[in-house]
Amino acid sequence: MLRKAFRFRLRPTPAVRQRLAQMAGCTRFLYNKALALNLNLLEQKQPILRYTKLCSQLQSWKQEEATLWLQQAHSQVLQQALKNLDRAFQDGLDVKQPGKKMPRFKKRGRQDSFRYPQGFKLRGNRVYLPKIGWVGMFKSQEVEGAIKNVTVSREGEHWFVSIQTEQEVRFEEEIVGGILGVDLGVVHQLTQSDGVQHPPVEAYRQAQQRLRREQRTLSRRVKGSNNWHKQVRRIRRLHQRISNLRKDVLHKLSHTLSQNHAVVCVEDLKVKNMTKSAKGTVESPGRNVKAKGGLNKAILEQGWGEFVRQLEYKLRWKGGRLVKVNPAYSSQECHACGFRSGENRKSQHEFECGSCGWDGNADVNGALNILHRGWEKLCEENVPVDVGCKPVEGEGVGLPVKQEPVGNCEEVPLR
Ligand SMILES: [Zn+2]
Repeated sequence: MLRKAFRFRLRPTPAVRQRLAQMAGCTRFLYNKALALNLNLLEQKQPILRYTKLCSQLQSWKQEEATLWLQQAHSQVLQQALKNLDRAFQDGLDVKQPGKKMPRFKKRGRQDSFRYPQGFKLRGNRVYLPKIGWVGMFKSQEVEGAIKNVTVSREGEHWFVSIQTEQEVRFEEEIVGGILGVDLGVVHQLTQSDGVQHPPVEAYRQAQQRLRREQRTLSRRVKGSNNWHKQVRRIRRLHQRISNLRKDVLHKLSHTLSQNHAVVCVEDLKVKNMTKSAKGTVESPGRNVKAKGGLNKAILEQGWGEFVRQLEYKLRWKGGRLVKVNPAYSSQECHACGFRSGENRKSQHEFECGSCGWDGNADVNGALNILHRGWEKLCEENVPVDVGCKPVEGEGVGLPVKQEPVGNCEEVPLR
């Protein structure tokens, strides 16, 4: 079974827009009210209310004079909000998940969303949302599979619907394409082991420049004035655009890679550690490293984790696989003979091995190391895989191996 979500922008009429905002408002109010209740209990060292108790609490709130209007919202949407809160508390209190934070209060206009577990309908280019009505949408593709739930969310000035489906998939017998290593270079440049490097996205760079300009304008405005508010709205829209551009780039890139390769190996980067360092090293460049060419720094800096996530599920849809490897010394090691030395790296872009003499692009060498490590990992795990390429002598495409592939990695179709 494969879960897949389809996301479309809604085209609400002004009246519908108002009802959407109301529903989001009701959900947010309830979430915050229940959150406050539980936080209060925690403070008094008492057990928090779990989902079922919260639901009966909701029933009594619906009868209270002050919160009578909660009845106007769809009850399952409200219950879903309580379910989310319950989940967030469980994660936040779980000692095994130290990364998870406790739930926080939702703010108006931020992460506004609500989910219908049932009651919705889909017909043509319209979706029926209980208590809201039929809403048109920009349906860019057909929805496949059985619909499990529908989530409505706001992003900037627009409303979106995300339709989650579940379907049984049959993986293709033969996976087209080979194995690829991907390296996130020192200058935040994405390099593939086959030598392809990705050019900067001009629209993205321009939007960022404009953002800096608009922010300077904002600093000159009188805070709270009409022009100040206008400028704030302009900047908010620009942020939205930049975020959309980033998403677009990452989706296109992960799509292309997943379509053309059965296995993709990437660095297992702890992005957080990476961005923390101000100075950085060759292995983990810091914030101040200037981005020259390649994919824009910010796209990858903010999007590497997202990129890897997309790549992983897109490969899985195709029956392929993503392999994460340890990137330590991948920029100093020679991919051809394994000789490791800081001297190997002559400059940002040049690599010359002090042992075997291989020379070429430093980032391509890094990507090839990632590729080798991924390949070794696959073999160690005994994953049956046929990547459709044989070891090649010398530099370049495929697997110019330093070791022969071991195990039964060859000739068995990838599952
Ligand atoms: Zn070498």
